Amino acid sequence: MITGATNILKNAGSLVNKAIEEYGEEKGVEYPNTAYDLPVFYAFLEDKVKTIGKIRKILEEIKESIKEEPTYENALKAGRCVLFAAEAIEALKYIEGEEHRDAEYTGFIPDDLIRRLGLSLVDGTIPGIAVILGKTRTGKEAKKLIRSLQERGILCCLCGDIIDQLHEEGVNIGLDLRVIPLGKSTETIHALNFALRTALIFGGLKRGMEKEIREYMKERVPVFVISLGEKEDMRYGIEAGVLFCNIPIVTDQEEEEIEGRYISEKDYKKMIHKALELAGIKIKVAKIDIPVPFGSAFEGERVRKNDVFVEIGGGRSIAFELLKMGTEEIEDGKIDLIGKDLNEIPEGSTPDLGVIVEVYGEKMEKDFEPVMERRFHDFVNCASGIMHVAQRDLIWIRISKEAREAGFLLRDIGTILHGKLHQEFSEIVDKVQIKIITDKERVEKEIIEARKIYREREEKTKNLTDESVDTFYSCTLCQSFAPDHVCIITPERTGLCGGVNWMDAKTGYRINKNGPNQPVRKDTVIDIEKGEWKEVNEFVREASHGKIERVCLYSAMENPHTSCGCFECIVAFIPEANGFMIVNREFGGKTPCGMSFSTLAGSVGGGVQVPGFIGVAKRYILSKKFILKEGGLKRIVWMPKSLKEELKPELKKRAEEISEPDLLEKIADETICTDPEELVVFLSEKNHPSLSMEMML
Ligand code: SF4
Ligand code: ZN
Repeated sequence: MITGATNILKNAGSLVNKAIEEYGEEKGVEYPNTAYDLPVFYAFLEDKVKTIGKIRKILEEIKESIKEEPTYENALKAGRCVLFAAEAIEALKYIEGEEHRDAEYTGFIPDDLIRRLGLSLVDGTIPGIAVILGKTRTGKEAKKLIRSLQERGILCCLCGDIIDQLHEEGVNIGLDLRVIPLGKSTETIHALNFALRTALIFGGLKRGMEKEIREYMKERVPVFVISLGEKEDMRYGIEAGVLFCNIPIVTDQEEEEIEGRYISEKDYKKMIHKALELAGIKIKVAKIDIPVPFGSAFEGERVRKNDVFVEIGGGRSIAFELLKMGTEEIEDGKIDLIGKDLNEIPEGSTPDLGVIVEVYGEKMEKDFEPVMERRFHDFVNCASGIMHVAQRDLIWIRISKEAREAGFLLRDIGTILHGKLHQEFSEIVDKVQIKIITDKERVEKEIIEARKIYREREEKTKNLTDESVDTFYSCTLCQSFAPDHVCIITPERTGLCGGVNWMDAKTGYRINKNGPNQPVRKDTVIDIEKGEWKEVNEFVREASHGKIERVCLYSAMENPHTSCGCFECIVAFIPEANGFMIVNREFGGKTPCGMSFSTLAGSVGGGVQVPGFIGVAKRYILSKKFILKEGGLKRIVWMPKSLKEELKPELKKRAEEISEPDLLEKIADETICTDPEELVVFLSEKNHPSLSMEMML
């Protein structure tokens, strides 16, 4: 390990020297789309490192810490050096900008992707991350290894010849399949700096907190390394770096073991079990018996037009799905097919489809129907080769030729829903009976009934306000990453990830009384405009381990709600404009507060209160309770054009409700300005309400 480390360090040294000759010491180096410059340097050093000159200095300094004597302690010290050296080598590839980099591999993983994965990591959809180095004995085994990790939902980062093995076996890889090809050797650092950033993004840890960050890695980040095949010195060096990050390693080579940290196992199947155990990862999967691979790894996979066998809904045919409460008489597991299935339908057709699911359970309630129905989208998408978009009578489904060839039938959608409803809602579901309808007349008849039910539900949620309930709910799911963060979810304030609304949280509590969703009474009002209640404060104080004393749900300035890291948008105060801007995660550009989303996000997350800044869900922007204390929507002075477009109809409606019908035209976006001075000019021209509202500072 120590020889390997010395080699990598030497290599880094000469690359850095070469770069200095070419560009000079002052030339800046950073990765794109991150708030953490060069994450390894950021995590382990208090000083900012932004130039090649500075990198050279650090590499020179740390060289001293390498000791020849082969002890575990020395291996860890060497490992620390490897991390810096590998980060330097990889960062130099970005010196001329991203476009000059070898595009065959994913390379650096941007912050926004980590945030996007955040929720899946906390709710267990992605139970862990595997970093795979080297190659398996045969290509077939590589395919099998990846498949079984995928079926368990594990996110795989690949580094080494296994990438070629998978290509040769015809296995599709890529970000959307959660199999990320990083590169061939020191690119492993991109998996490690990803893991390190979870501590910075979600754990609220700061620059240079090396000890705490390593501790966090050990306690909270479910990651492991599988190191395959014959190794050269270089790989041993990288393994030392991995160990320094407190990440366990399983290898298929014979090695001296280190208990709980470094294990040998030749059998690939056993290897996965051992790795999961070492990393403390528990997997809950029920086998879904359908002819195509099934697992959350396939959730984001698209079916392209040329690969489509049939297409359903999405304006091409009539389609809907509905879940309703059934009686005790229904038969569990019964799937009725009314009409033709895929084996009787020609390729290229657009069949009609109705999916009606009846659920019976002693603890089942009518209120749970839409919550469970909304999950169909996730469930069906887990089947490889099936793409499912939207919900209710708006669904759009594509089934690929490959899935059809493997024997997939529409009836299998029933199998998926039956299995997943039992698995995910085991506390409230006893029986599930399903009708899959493709007969045109029958679909047309049933959709009328379904639409009646959708309308009734809409009426019901429309009338649901914070005033109309006596209980809010908490969500502490994100505490696995942000240990002091608590979301308080009210009918008019969705969880900031956008994935949990009040009804979901309420259902969550019914399903698991000791789970992350707990009821929070709201009997004693402290300040109704700020959205402060005595019981909410007490709850948050306790759940945040005393870190947060008070929280005002409707204010961005006073005791604001904390953020974990997976917020969809950030609301940020712009003093010059006496208002707030909003930026969503998808927007990569600069904003009037001088920072991009990712930079801004760096100071908002981690479960701390930052007055003037809150992380929110997109839906919350449309709520009547949105920063009510500061004046609500009227205070919004800037947001990216795409976000404006996305929310347009609803924003317009809200604008009319608050007697500012032209508000949307008064809100600036990046095509108008990204600078506070220009922003103020624009706002005055448009006579934006924020300028005449009470001063916030
Ligand atoms: Fe995390 Fe809050 Fe979403 Fe729960 S509601 S998953 S705590 S962001
Ligand atoms: Zn979160």
